[in-house]
Amino acid sequence: MNAGGDHADDEPREKCGVVGVSLAERDAARPLYYALYALQHRGQESAGIVTHDGFQQHSHVERGLVGDAFEAGDLESLAGSTGIGHVRYPTAGSLDKSCAQPFSVSFKSGSLGLSHNGNLVNADEVREELAAAGHAFTSDGDTEVIAHDLARNLLEEDLVRAVKHTMKRIHGSYSLAITHDDTVLGVRDPMGNRPLCIGRLEDGYVLASESAAIDTLDGELIRDVRPGELVVLEPDGSGYDTYQLVEADSTAHCFFEHVYFARPDSVIDDELVYEVRRKLGRKLWEESGVESDVVMPVPDSGRAFATGYADAAAETTADGGVREDDGGIEFAEGLMKNRYVGRTFIMPTQDERERAVRLKLNPIRSTVEGKSVTIIDDSIVRGTTSTQLVELVREAGAEEVHLRIGAPPIVAPCYFGIDMATRDELIASDKSTEEIRDRIEADSLSYLSIDAVAEALDASRADLCLGCVTGEYPFDVEGEATDRPVEAPSTDAPAADD
Ligand code: SF4
Repeated sequence: MNAGGDHADDEPREKCGVVGVSLAERDAARPLYYALYALQHRGQESAGIVTHDGFQQHSHVERGLVGDAFEAGDLESLAGSTGIGHVRYPTAGSLDKSCAQPFSVSFKSGSLGLSHNGNLVNADEVREELAAAGHAFTSDGDTEVIAHDLARNLLEEDLVRAVKHTMKRIHGSYSLAITHDDTVLGVRDPMGNRPLCIGRLEDGYVLASESAAIDTLDGELIRDVRPGELVVLEPDGSGYDTYQLVEADSTAHCFFEHVYFARPDSVIDDELVYEVRRKLGRKLWEESGVESDVVMPVPDSGRAFATGYADAAAETTADGGVREDDGGIEFAEGLMKNRYVGRTFIMPTQDERERAVRLKLNPIRSTVEGKSVTIIDDSIVRGTTSTQLVELVREAGAEEVHLRIGAPPIVAPCYFGIDMATRDELIASDKSTEEIRDRIEADSLSYLSIDAVAEALDASRADLCLGCVTGEYPFDVEGEATDRPVEAPSTDAPAADD
């Protein structure tokens, strides 16, 4: 529940957001800073900006939220009209500052800065090969692996060929914003696992994880960067070139971006995320609607699902017939959220941990008392939050508490940039829906089907990553099954082909 920045331990977490801008004359630092604010929900552990002023690279990377990581003077020292930014949770690599991003490095033929969203699954092999060739690493993160590989290729090849060779060696999920001197690049992995889009500003161009960042800069979304595509922004902000460097047979877009991670006001694959969530809510009613007095969302992320669910319930009955009375189910904001509870409040005992949800959510007694209530949430991870929530609403006087989830059960971990808990911790990894219902003590529990998700996204299952809900992944992950014929590429040093 709620990807909006105040996660407790029982919620999946996006790991990173990236942005890059190329402007005609203005300094890039301030627009990058605003864009990072717009992407704050994608990572709250550290924030950073790297710019280039045509002569040298400038970097500021600090732990903490965007607002804490930068002071006014920091932005002024980041000279230059091109640059990239990053917000981060630790994905691969340790939690210390050496893994905060953008990663920057200078080498013989210039300077590089890298912002990475995603996770490589063959980083160790590529790192070993590079280390054997004499590259010294300062962190254990996979972004540095990409940077070193690219730096090596750039010694011998032009930019486009160097990126292509790196893309052929790395395997996994990546959306990258890169600076090579004063040129800003955007790269999306061949399966397009994590989002990346390009937009036009009045005086330049922008690449960002989500279009909400482009809106914040008063820009206009052009389109998503295509899987396997390289976008090169002109350093003077006058335009961009694109190169389709790698083609894959299918895509593997993370369905959870639409369901949970992305901001509802972002547009992905030409669809407003908010509308997709409303559609998912409608499908939830069609698949498992339950007649109750009130339907209410878990704020904030359950809201779009719940409005779609309530709209559909006004049109049809739970058994699929046309609703003849003009009732439907009352939509109510029956859970109030305390917006000031951070994600790191201290809960020393198990008992206090179990009561943590009370710090965050408070039911409105008059909305639920004596009623049958349906709560709509977007996911169940460990199940602790759902258990507390059901208890809370019962204690406030609800006679029945039904829980509907706008995504399929999470049965397996994510290896591609989402902090989803381990398999052992996931309640659905070894329990049926009925067993989970019993555990959380709800009167009924239903999840959305995978097919309904694919339909709402207007995508075939084969073009989505569904790893965490099927246990079969679109990349070659050691010890895990795949849902398509994929193989990690050879990590041998690049051949001299094109
Ligand atoms: S495993 Fe799940 S969360 Fe991870 S990329 Fe795939 S769909 Fe997204």
